[in-house]
Amino acid sequence: MIDSSTSLLASQKHDIVRFAMGSPANEDIPVDVFREIAVTHLNPSSFTYGATEGEPQLLEALVDYLSTTSEPTSYDRLVITAGGMQGLDLACKIFVDPGDLVIVESPTYTNGSATAASYGAELLEAPMDADGLIVEALPALVSAAGRSPKAIYVIPNFQNPSGTTLSAQRRELLIKLAHDWNAIIIDDDPYGPLRFTGQDVPGFQHISPRDPLVFSVRTFSKILAPGLRVGWVDTDPKIRQLVINAKQAMDTCTNVPAQHMTAEFIRRGDLSAHLRRIRSLYFDRKCAMRESLAHSLGERITMTDPEGGFFLWLRLQGEDAMTSSTALFETALREGVAFIPGTAFSPSYKFDNALRLCFAASTPDRIQVGVERLTRSLDLARSVDY
Ligand code: PMP
Repeated sequence: MIDSSTSLLASQKHDIVRFAMGSPANEDIPVDVFREIAVTHLNPSSFTYGATEGEPQLLEALVDYLSTTSEPTSYDRLVITAGGMQGLDLACKIFVDPGDLVIVESPTYTNGSATAASYGAELLEAPMDADGLIVEALPALVSAAGRSPKAIYVIPNFQNPSGTTLSAQRRELLIKLAHDWNAIIIDDDPYGPLRFTGQDVPGFQHISPRDPLVFSVRTFSKILAPGLRVGWVDTDPKIRQLVINAKQAMDTCTNVPAQHMTAEFIRRGDLSAHLRRIRSLYFDRKCAMRESLAHSLGERITMTDPEGGFFLWLRLQGEDAMTSSTALFETALREGVAFIPGTAFSPSYKFDNALRLCFAASTPDRIQVGVERLTRSLDLARSVDY
């Protein structure tokens, strides 16, 4: 559902405000810089097979760049992947066997939970609140399940879809529980560098350095361009060798021209500048979306207030809660606004009264138009329901 919306939306002929896809707007992707780098920096070595672990210039640029962040790392822990999805696939391929219990957030990014399920995992959906996954609730859930989990899949910052961030205290407790259970933490953090307000919360790698139970999945998709299909995993060097072996059997190496372009982009210092620019854009867009929603829908909804990332999570209240967001989607599309219905974020299709809205890809003016259309759709849906 999350990705099938791409082709569904592409086939629509009328004007649609796009709150559905978690993708940067085309005009916020630095295409001119990529074009110039393609001319000046791609050479014959860009068009042959590369090393499975990644191109040396990208690994070096990444280690340099990450040394300026709260998650410094080293060459011997990194493998370049085809986006975050391949990082998730590699984690599950290595750690998840049929019948294993895997804890997932509820709601979660279901392409991630589906990856675990594709290796035979039994998914245990665990509840969230404003501080992210309710880690304190996990021991009781695990004891009711009757066996320890093999992995815990978490999106710690500005979670997809809820926009919430896991508190520092809960991160610490999660690491302790992972050790009690000998479970891997699949730390999927595409949005962490996109914080626009508040304080950074220390990452798992920071709280528990060189912890073999922390497997970090990262991507350039949200901070640069999803079409590059370039990401990385940061993991214990022994596990890294398993990752390299598994990746070799999957796709030999990540697309080499895309790696060379990304490396040069970072080397020029353009990534930091680009991040500064989009953080401020996204902050304005989030504020515009929250203000429009509060103005048009007021008490009819609750919504999260993310301090970064792409998404806010809206829950219908009162009589509107009787409206199925899946049914609302059809009406909204006709009215000219797209979102993702809440059920797309739960393996057991919970959250039919919730909507994920991406604020990152529309200007404040367009956001206002989109929220007006969404309000009209809800009014129409309500008049049908009652
Ligand atoms: N994890 C999460 C939480 C995501 O939101 C996404 C992209 N929507 C991914 C992983 C996949 O990233 P990529 O496009 O780089 O494969």
